[in-house]
Amino acid sequence: MGEIRCNTCGINSYKERKINYLYSHQGKYLLVPKTPVESCIDCGMIYYDAAVLKEIERRFFVIHQQNEMPDSYIQIPTKSYR
Ligand SMILES: [Zn+2]
Repeated sequence: MGEIRCNTCGINSYKERKINYLYSHQGKYLLVPKTPVESCIDCGMIYYDAAVLKEIERRFFVIHQQNEMPDSYIQIPTKSYR
């Protein structure tokens, strides 16, 4: 993250922090405790790692897909054994 300058104050020094990140999508929410973020040491502006956000998004959709498709989603293998 060292190359990127803060949008607010223009410096490029950050420290790592852990925050409770609330992801929201179409009126649904997922709280992700201890999300690693970079925080500007000067103004405190928080920046998220793209890989971290991607992983949160992936988990969000996994959780909501499971909620919306109950028991009928179970698949039984149709292989024949000899
Ligand atoms: Zn800053």
